[in-house]
Amino acid sequence: MQIIPLHPNDRIQLKKPHPCGSNVFLILRVGSEVRVICEGCKRDMTLDRVKLEKSIKKVLPQSEQE
Ligand SMILES: [Zn+2]
Repeated sequence: MQIIPLHPNDRIQLKKPHPCGSNVFLILRVGSEVRVICEGCKRDMTLDRVKLEKSIKKVLPQSEQE
């Protein structure tokens, strides 16, 4: 199993898009649960870390931020 390092302020791209259509999320807090904000609608969600890691498509490096 792959362990994905996650840090606050990282942006992640998920396999499944949010209902608003965006699939990029900003990480606010990392623990056994991860708090993220949807970049599309700015709603925040708290997700179980294990489930979140499985649904990550890609972690966007800081340097690729627009
Ligand atoms: Zn959204």
